[in-house]
Order: sequence, then structure tokens, then C-alpha cells
Amino acid sequence: MSEFPQVKDTIQLIKELVSIPSPSGNTRRVIDFCEQYFSGLNLEMKRNRKGGLLITIPGENADKHRMLTAHVDTLGAMVKEIKSNGRLKLTMIGGFRWNSVEGEYCKIETDSGRTYTGTILMKQTSVHVYKDAGEAKRNEQNIEVRIDEITNSEEETRKLGINVGDFVSFDPRVEITTSGFIKSRHLDDKASTAILLQLIKHIHSKKIKLPYTTHFLISNNEEIGYGGNANVSPETVEYLAVDMGALGEGQASDEYTVSICAKDSSGPYHYGLRKHLVQLAKDNNIDYKVDIYPYYGSDASAAIKAGHDIVHGLVGPGIESSHAFERTHESSLINTQKLLLAYVLSPITEI
Ligand SMILES: [Zn+2]
Repeated sequence: MSEFPQVKDTIQLIKELVSIPSPSGNTRRVIDFCEQYFSGLNLEMKRNRKGGLLITIPGENADKHRMLTAHVDTLGAMVKEIKSNGRLKLTMIGGFRWNSVEGEYCKIETDSGRTYTGTILMKQTSVHVYKDAGEAKRNEQNIEVRIDEITNSEEETRKLGINVGDFVSFDPRVEITTSGFIKSRHLDDKASTAILLQLIKHIHSKKIKLPYTTHFLISNNEEIGYGGNANVSPETVEYLAVDMGALGEGQASDEYTVSICAKDSSGPYHYGLRKHLVQLAKDNNIDYKVDIYPYYGSDASAAIKAGHDIVHGLVGPGIESSHAFERTHESSLINTQKLLLAYVLSPITEI
């Protein structure tokens, strides 16, 4: 079997992906990027109405299909209100805590396509002015955007072309360390997306024959719950979401292995498929952890909830401090790459 692409290429691709703003609901540019990644390859590719990208590689068996998905949409925000002092109130896109974006640089994209920069701050930030700067609640009322333009009123901000409903994205602050860590926002789930994009290119360019027709969905609405619950062909037997492993106290997942999810808040993942993934990891000397994620749902569980009669699974790189100051290590990417390649070449084990 030909070797998988170099991890440095994966990291470069992650860097490019996280640098394209793509909060759920505004993902066209990042999907364009994914499509262009395959330009000239003559792959069977289409966009669904939700704006996701579906790539199909025919396999030896066309009666049973497989589907793998990773999502390119990320957390973000939207302008909820323009304040009388010209600053912006926000509403969240996806689930996070305001303290995880406090102090973060951001971009405001107007509907005419113009982009402004700003900083997400507490109204009570200056310790020289606000006695309660430390204690004040980090909430929708107190969090605001300071725009990097001269504006002191609602009218002046409106003149910039900024309106309620404009998308706000967070600066990823991507950094690669010499010790092999990737620090960036939005590693959930752009780390997995980079791995899937490379896997598709690898299969195609090395002319690897897959045992089953395999669909790859680059989904774009996972953070809001419905990215991958459509476009599942009736022949699809197995549906594998490739999404982050959740780390924290008491969690088995780490930044060095591939996480195989046994259960999340949606319930257990398919036992047979989970055991198959563990066996593949063992057979191929892949470092893995089986884990349970307490507050988590995936595109695979969304597909189950939408009524698809499928065998569902969830694997992915371990992401530290998810939906906040994310980090992973290149070894987690390598282990995830290896498991996915072994998986797409393996038999479907219907139980
Ligand atoms: Zn995710």
C-alpha cells in the first residue's frame, strides 16, 4: 500500500483551511477552496443545496456504499444589534462560551462583501474605568465588538455598510510549533477536513481501488446540527463522521492518538463498527483511544436522528480545549490518517 501524504502537507492544508472564515451559514468560500483542491482531477463531485460538497469514488461493489464526512463550518457570530456608541452586539453561531472569544480579533463581513476588522471585548474591559472588570458576566449584554474604524454612533457604523445579520468570524491565530503542535481555532473540524481531502486525492492519484463505492461529504452545517443528515444514498450501509475527539479531565482521548467514539450525548455509536475500527487500529499499529464525549453530537448521529437506516461511527484527532483555544499534535493527525486509509480499504462488517 502506498504511503499516505506527508504530515507537513496536512498541516499546511489545515493552515489554509482555518484561515478562510467559515462560520456556519457562510461557508461558500471554504467550499470553493475544497472544490478547487480537486481541480483537474476529474472526480465525481457535486454540491448539495445546503452548500456542502459531495465527492463519490466508485468501488468494486456498487450495491453497498460507504460515506465519510467532515465539516468545514465553524463557530462564529452574527451582528445582533448596532449600539448607540457604534459598537456591535453579537449573537452566537454554534455552542461556545463568551470567555473563549473575549479579547479575540475578528472580521465583520458586510452583505456587500466588504470586510472590517475588530476586537471582541467586554464593555467593562478597562480596569481604569470599571471596578467590576473582572467579575462582570461574560454574556450577550456585556460582550461587544470594537470596530477598527472611526465610529461613535449607530449612524456612523451603518454608514460603513455594517448591518444586523452580518457574519462575524474569529481570528484563528494559527501557529505551528517545532514540537509538532498545531495551535489554532477551528481545528474542529478543519483538521479532519484536511485529512479527508488528502485521502480523496491520495486514493485518486494512486489509483487505489476501493472495495465499495464511497461518498465523501464535506459538510457545512455541523455546528448547528444538520450538516450531514441528507444526501445519504439508499445503498449506504456505513456512515463514518470524522470529527474531533474531546479532551478534558476524565477523558481517554489525547492529542497524540486517534479517538474512536463509543458514545456521545446522542447515545452509543454502532457497536459492530466501533469494534471493527478498534481491530483495524490494532492490526495496523495505529495508536487509538476509545472514549465517551459527554456533551457532543456529530453529523453521523444527526443522520441517524434524521431517520437513515445506517451503521454509524465517529473517529477523529484529539483536540485540546475544543470550541476555545484548540490544539492538537501531528501524531494525532498521522494516526487518524492511517485509520481512515485502513478503513476505506476494509470490508463492511454488517452486524
Ligand atoms: Zn466538530
